[in-house]
Amino acid sequence: MKKQREKMMDRVLNWIATHDDDTPFLLIDKEVLKEKVSQIGKGINNSKVFYAVKANPDIEVLRFLNELKVGFEIASEGELAILKQLNVEPERMITSNPIKTFKFLKEAVEYGINYYAFDSFAEVEKLAKYAPKKKVYVRLSVPNEGSEWPLSKKFGVEIEDAVKLLLYAKEKGLEPIGITFHVGSQCSNIYNWHTAIDKARQVKELALKEGIEIRMLNIGGGYPIEYIKKVPDIETIEMKINSILQNYFPDTDIFIEPGRAVVGDAGVFVSRIIGKAKRGDENWLYIDVGVFNGLMESIGGIKYQYIVGSRGEEKHWTIAGPSCDSFDVIDKEVLLPEPDVGSLILILSAGAYTVSYASEFNGFSIPKTFLI
Ligand SMILES: *Cc1c(COP(=O)(O)O)cnc(C)c1O
Repeated sequence: MKKQREKMMDRVLNWIATHDDDTPFLLIDKEVLKEKVSQIGKGINNSKVFYAVKANPDIEVLRFLNELKVGFEIASEGELAILKQLNVEPERMITSNPIKTFKFLKEAVEYGINYYAFDSFAEVEKLAKYAPKKKVYVRLSVPNEGSEWPLSKKFGVEIEDAVKLLLYAKEKGLEPIGITFHVGSQCSNIYNWHTAIDKARQVKELALKEGIEIRMLNIGGGYPIEYIKKVPDIETIEMKINSILQNYFPDTDIFIEPGRAVVGDAGVFVSRIIGKAKRGDENWLYIDVGVFNGLMESIGGIKYQYIVGSRGEEKHWTIAGPSCDSFDVIDKEVLLPEPDVGSLILILSAGAYTVSYASEFNGFSIPKTFLI
């Protein structure tokens, strides 16, 4: 991991030295992507990986991942359109958004996608009408404690409702085959997977009594990456998950839907320092990428690592984006040597949930992405 990051930094610095693009932009390192893809799922028996496209839907990123033959998890007509453009086969796509738009559902069925998540009676009815006979899987609600970006309140049902929903799906002519959950994004609490898989086991046993055989378990995303804090590595997480799966789901297909863990570490934002100020006793640093055009997750508590090329005095900085909105503050108390206005600042582990969230608010451009 250390070595990998050093090599990536060499490639990043070399790219910067030989190109002349306007900042901000996002560099995505192909070697890191490749390594992540080969790593994820390796420790889990009978597993298939479906990259969660929302983490970074850049077409060149998807083209590269497609060449590596990963599957894709998609949620919208827009995501489907990009994959169609790349001729990704429908067999390599699943859709885990439990509430789908009508347009997406129709297009997904037309294209031949076979797997659909749901977690409500209304969605079963929608699926029965627009996606008749398709394979469906129910989303369970599971603990999201210790994940930096919880997803549990919006989706998921408890065990008994999950069983009822699977039965209802069968009654409506769909093929209920599986269970899914999401432990929360950037989850460093291994116990969440433990609890979630145990809940899924209970659903599986109750469903079997009702004549429904669970043949697929989709363990969602949530694998963490290293921003500033140490996190358990993928190998360790998968080793723990796999031993539980071996007990409870020995002959089941396991789907994994990582987003952040695939692209996060591969990305480096290249931004420019556009201003400095002292306000009271706070040192402020203004840069050309901010909350609205790429660093949205900083608002939810993600803390990035920054690099500046300066040998100046070390100080604590409040780092803010370029817009006129006072919400546009990325970080506080960041210790960095004092950089010059006009110089570059690099932001590490910025490949996931950055550009995909960005808007042109206040006229600041959405950073371009380059694969290196
Ligand atoms: C966002 C999402 C993922 C990816 O989550 P990460 O935490 O980025 O790995 C996977 N599955 C579903 C259903 C999602 O909504």
